[in-house]
Amino acid sequence: MLTDLTLIELRDKLWAGDVTSVQATEAVLARIAAVDGRLLSFLTVTPEIALAQAQSADQRLAQGERTPLLGIPVALKAIICNKDVPTSAGSKILEGFRPPYDAFVTQQLKQAGAVILGMTNTDEFAMGSSTENSAYQTTRNPWNTALVPGGSSGGSAAAVAAGLTFGALGSDTGGSIRQPAALCNVVGLRPTYGRVSRWGVVAYASSLDQVGPLGRDVRSAAAVLSTIAGHDERDSTSLPHPVPNYEAALTGDIRGLRVGVPREYFVEGIQPDVEAAVRSAIQKLADLGAEIVEISLPHTHYALPIYYLIATAEASANLARYDGIRFGPRIQGTDVRDTTMKTRGLFGPEVKNRIMLGTFVLSAGYYDAYYGKALKARTLLGRDFQRAFEQVDVIATPTSPSTAFPIGERAADPIAMYLSDIYTVSLNLSAGCGISIPCGFDGAGLPIGLQLLANTLQEPTLLNAAFAYEQATEWGKQRCQL
Ligand code: GLN
Repeated sequence: MLTDLTLIELRDKLWAGDVTSVQATEAVLARIAAVDGRLLSFLTVTPEIALAQAQSADQRLAQGERTPLLGIPVALKAIICNKDVPTSAGSKILEGFRPPYDAFVTQQLKQAGAVILGMTNTDEFAMGSSTENSAYQTTRNPWNTALVPGGSSGGSAAAVAAGLTFGALGSDTGGSIRQPAALCNVVGLRPTYGRVSRWGVVAYASSLDQVGPLGRDVRSAAAVLSTIAGHDERDSTSLPHPVPNYEAALTGDIRGLRVGVPREYFVEGIQPDVEAAVRSAIQKLADLGAEIVEISLPHTHYALPIYYLIATAEASANLARYDGIRFGPRIQGTDVRDTTMKTRGLFGPEVKNRIMLGTFVLSAGYYDAYYGKALKARTLLGRDFQRAFEQVDVIATPTSPSTAFPIGERAADPIAMYLSDIYTVSLNLSAGCGISIPCGFDGAGLPIGLQLLANTLQEPTLLNAAFAYEQATEWGKQRCQL
């Protein structure tokens, strides 16, 4: 089936003239129509726009253009502005909001001739690990629809896993690309902070947010990264460094690569099947010629509290802009204050929790004890990683302590939900890039992810390590039955 192909396999067929972009787009649109009623991975599908883009891509292909994403159907997480298409961030406070401009990454995709299928579901303002915090719908895990797909980019991960799109963008503030990728058996890459412009992406926690690709294999993720990375003066944190050809970095040779295994990452709470799969993945890397080194990241224990202090503090500031005046719907009150209060009542419970937490930790008298301390601890955590990256090229860990969990199981217990992020948040708090790739299945047949981390701008090394592992195993080729 056309929809079973990876992005790269589809590209080969487009380039060979075996299939047209319109045919590929029609195939995924038909599959969305057939199965997304059960999965709920898309918030908005835009068939007319997609088919028009596919037609123009076919013209460019016919003229001999051969660029990486030309004619390839992809999807955007609904926090990435897509001009004139509803971009709600999974929130009622942005219901019906149609951005007047494209995000930088959307512009990049459009220029590259990619076909944009629509907007995928997300936890409200990307706050969550399961998509249950979406104000619209809970996306189902395509491996078992009673389970969550992970989050917050759960719509993107589920859509890629189920063959509803050949690639998707997500965002990762504390793991929201990598964790759903792990839970859905796809590849999810969180690039170095600043590698991809955040311009036009709804802000959650600005010092942690980063956009990145999800795909069915490493090469697909590399192709998307090559297209969306790059300097953008409209994002002051965007890095000026030239963008390498990430696909060209995939040699599959990792002989001599030093792989660190943090001793603090295999402790209580990890599901035994996950630990076993990750340990055997590390052994596989050794078989491929990597040198395995035990390392220590001593401040790991503090990562979650640091993250949830900093992320909520930044969120409380970022979300102050939703006042009923400038964006989205307005609930008219008796005066401006009343209007603002009533409109802000549209935020969902988790977002309200976080605004309150963030406002508290930033308030006079508590700032030093909470936010200030979290910033200092963040520096220490960052130093752990810098020391580790003097010893090793790549760090290998589980992506998530468990496989996909039942819808509802953790929804009422924020701490249990926050623990899903235990292995992912440290990367966002420090520097560097990370990827999750399929590395096995648990006793119930649910996917397990291997997380690899590398230092700032070391995406070529990171992707090549992931690629070498992927080439030597069959996990990522397993497809869910829907
Ligand atoms: N689950 C984490 C949170 O809720 C991470 C979210 C993300 O990366 N966007 O904050």
